[in-house]
Amino acid sequence: MKRTQRCPKCTGQRLWVIEKFRVPGESAEGVPLPVVPHQERAGGRFTLGRATPQGSFNLWLCAACGYSELWAEDVAGLRHDPAAGVRLVDSGTDAGGPFR
Ligand SMILES: [Zn+2]
Repeated sequence: MKRTQRCPKCTGQRLWVIEKFRVPGESAEGVPLPVVPHQERAGGRFTLGRATPQGSFNLWLCAACGYSELWAEDVAGLRHDPAAGVRLVDSGTDAGGPFR
């Protein structure tokens, strides 16, 4: 939908874009929904156990049928941490892959 500027379900071309999609919070504006809210900050003994939210979502919404997609951004700080439920699956076959 983001690339084609067209709804993949009904081919509608009127699309709402809600940047930094938010969820209800203590303030009236709410808080941006993070991609990973529970990633521990790397290093530093004073930050041990503190969570650093990573990333945000832009929501693309078809005005005709309501179909919606979430597109993540600002995810460069994500860390592979299977114990915390965050995994990077990289199936690329470029020079860094298993077929060197
Ligand atoms: Zn649609």
